[in-house]
Amino acid sequence: MELSSFYDVIVVGAGTMGMPTGAYLAEHGARILIIDTFDPPHHSGSHHGQTRMIRHAYGEGRQYVSLVKRAQFLWKELERQSGLKIFEQTGVLGQGHRSSPFLKETVDAAKNHHLPLEELSADEIMERWPGITVAEDFIGCLETGSGLLFSENAIQAYKNIALENHAEILTNTPVLDIKQGNSSVEVITRNGTFNAGKVVVTAGAWAGKLLSDLQLPLQPYRKVVGWFESPELFEAPLFPSFYVDEGDRMFYGFPSLDGSGLKLGRTDGGQPIDPDNHVQNFGYYSSDEGDLRGFLHKFMPHANGKLKTGITCLYTKSPDGHFIIDHHPNHQNIILACGFSGHGFKFGSVMGEVLGQLAQNGTTDHDISLFSLSRFEK
Ligand SMILES: Cc1cc2nc3c(=O)[nH]c(=O)nc-3n(C[C@H](O)[C@H](O)[C@H](O)COP(=O)(O)OP(=O)(O)OC[C@H]3O[C@@H](n4cnc5c(N)ncnc54)[C@H](O)[C@@H]3O)c2cc1C
Repeated sequence: MELSSFYDVIVVGAGTMGMPTGAYLAEHGARILIIDTFDPPHHSGSHHGQTRMIRHAYGEGRQYVSLVKRAQFLWKELERQSGLKIFEQTGVLGQGHRSSPFLKETVDAAKNHHLPLEELSADEIMERWPGITVAEDFIGCLETGSGLLFSENAIQAYKNIALENHAEILTNTPVLDIKQGNSSVEVITRNGTFNAGKVVVTAGAWAGKLLSDLQLPLQPYRKVVGWFESPELFEAPLFPSFYVDEGDRMFYGFPSLDGSGLKLGRTDGGQPIDPDNHVQNFGYYSSDEGDLRGFLHKFMPHANGKLKTGITCLYTKSPDGHFIIDHHPNHQNIILACGFSGHGFKFGSVMGEVLGQLAQNGTTDHDISLFSLSRFEK
């Protein structure tokens, strides 16, 4: 491929956040180069494993609701535009002790934003989904309009849009450095140096290493997910996507899709790692399978079947669990989006719009004040 050396915008990292940004900018007429270490969608970052949950009444904070509503609209648009399966409306069932702050925020977020949310007692949960066993002092929150996203399909769909709109995509090419020049930004790779008016850095678990001068408060974690052989009770559309807040730990999962088996992961925990040097095989630590089995034994004993598949994946956590989306403090032409803290995928579609607008106009229509980098300056 013959590449130019000057672009309006270069997007560094073409995963969940970078690929939609490249697609948005290409669709809006910008000259775009998108660069990735691998060939997205791929299995080395944070977006693989087939599915991601999307919830609207947001337990991490009601400030996210407007963004997630826009994201949901854009995912449906993407499905229509691409012809690929992007969203499955499985509903999401949240469960936890009646004093759970996460469930309380979920209920308050729903009330605040007039979102439909059904509140259920423990008996109602177990009656409706006989596969679930919960303690009497647990409650449930059911959102029927939400569900799951097919993550690799979503990135592929945005890649197709970017290419159809003449974006250039350079794969299998790690960016080695990003330097602010006099009038443009230089992006250095072993395949050449490229210049752009603006650079958007969406490098996931590698953001801290790539922008090492900023000493970003980020920690990548190794996380695991397993698929377990399960009876029909756990098959979509009968069984919803779900999460369970146990107080000191939180698990989440997805119904079996066409016999795939129940998918289960744990939100907290995992091993802090260097993204270039960590154990990628599931089962290396006994807790990989052990934690998941412990949950199944207690809450979904009928789904505690044979392990069908297990994978590892990466979270990149910020200290407060909120994202970091900002201009580089010393270089206004560099925009960064990272620290998605294990709950970013559902926002990928709207992040394309946010980051695309920041690159084109310097500002965005969306409220991103929660995500400023300066909140850590103390
Ligand atoms: C197991 C698991 C389950 C999850 N479940 C959910 C969920 O249910 N719902 C939800 O909303 N979120 C969920 N998440 C979180 C969500 O997937 C992440 O927040 C999101 O994928 C992060 O997107 P990203 O663009 O930052 O990273 P990525 O999608 O990994 O993209 C980063 C890209 O940058 C590239 N890159 C890195 N360094 C360089 C470099 N130097 N040069 C060029 N390219 C580079 C990488 O190759 C990669 O393609 C989950 C995550 C995991 C791991």
